[in-house]
Amino acid sequence: MSYVRRRFGYFRQIGFSKSLRIAGKDIYCKLIGYPGSIMFEPASKCNLNCSMCWGVKAMKYRKNNLLDFQQFKKIVDEVAFFCSRIFFNFCGEPLINKDIFSMIEYAGKKDIITLLSTNSIFLTKENVHKLLEALPNYLTVSLDATTKNTYESMRTGGNFDTALERVQSLVEEREKKKSINPIIDLQMILTKKNENEIEEFIMLGKKLNVDLVSIKSLYIAHQADQDYIKKLTEEYFTPHYISRYKKKEDGTLVLKKSGICPHIKSPVIASDGDVYICCFDFFGKYKQSNALTENFCEIWNRHDYKQFRKDIMSKRKLDICEYCSYLNMPRKTVHFK
Ligand code: SF4
Ligand code: SF4
Repeated sequence: MSYVRRRFGYFRQIGFSKSLRIAGKDIYCKLIGYPGSIMFEPASKCNLNCSMCWGVKAMKYRKNNLLDFQQFKKIVDEVAFFCSRIFFNFCGEPLINKDIFSMIEYAGKKDIITLLSTNSIFLTKENVHKLLEALPNYLTVSLDATTKNTYESMRTGGNFDTALERVQSLVEEREKKKSINPIIDLQMILTKKNENEIEEFIMLGKKLNVDLVSIKSLYIAHQADQDYIKKLTEEYFTPHYISRYKKKEDGTLVLKKSGICPHIKSPVIASDGDVYICCFDFFGKYKQSNALTENFCEIWNRHDYKQFRKDIMSKRKLDICEYCSYLNMPRKTVHFK
């Protein structure tokens, strides 16, 4: 989504005065160096077990945890004066957490744009109702395929018909409410398994009446085990222009481009309150203290963490940096509204 379109989209959703307050926070962050966007992990567990998922790998080493509303509120109260965007995401499925709706609503009241990503299976009638009351601004629905075979070969444990029906009922309920919230983005993570379905996927998005369709690059977690890397390289990687990787002569993958670190100023608050440096450090190797036991701003302003960010910004020197992503990665986005 282009910057202008994104800005205009949110402006339509949140109105003039809130847009102005959010723009003020963005300027403040630029001047003072606070993170304008923070990712919260509502749940470190998932109802599916997708074989391409790096989160599944991470969740094996971390406790299954749910961030509760009071814990979320404690941190949001500390960051609301500068934070303008919260992504509800990271390793698990956010809708597993029943407090997610109060979190979205609370953040909205604090002039924070809320975005979340779901595999859609928990978009039951009851949850759709709660979601449309809480009103997140942006919802990414990961569907990935247009056929049952492809979907179920990628989304282990998922059911294509259920997933499709859930997206359909979400869009219908939103229409009934005549709401423009949330913007619904139907997402395909591009792999060798679904690359022949791109055009059908776009047509499916149009038919489902979502706002847009996004085709994005697969991420392969090179800090995970060798079997996973081999499987993803052989069965999932495609040299399509949307892929962030290219294959070297020895058969291993490398980022097409590198450049400056894209996310060191977007920390993650994991479901147990641990502060992770970015959304690619999903094993928490470089975690910086805990936002439930300390004030987030004190953690962010610690001299060693500041120095760490400065070092990473210019040179991606951590092991996890080698394969993460780069600014302006190619993707295909088709807007219908
Ligand atoms: S639904 Fe998402 S978080 Fe859950 S296993 Fe699949 S890719 Fe991972
Ligand atoms: S370059 Fe390194 S620190 Fe920056 S987002 Fe990627 S993995 Fe994280």
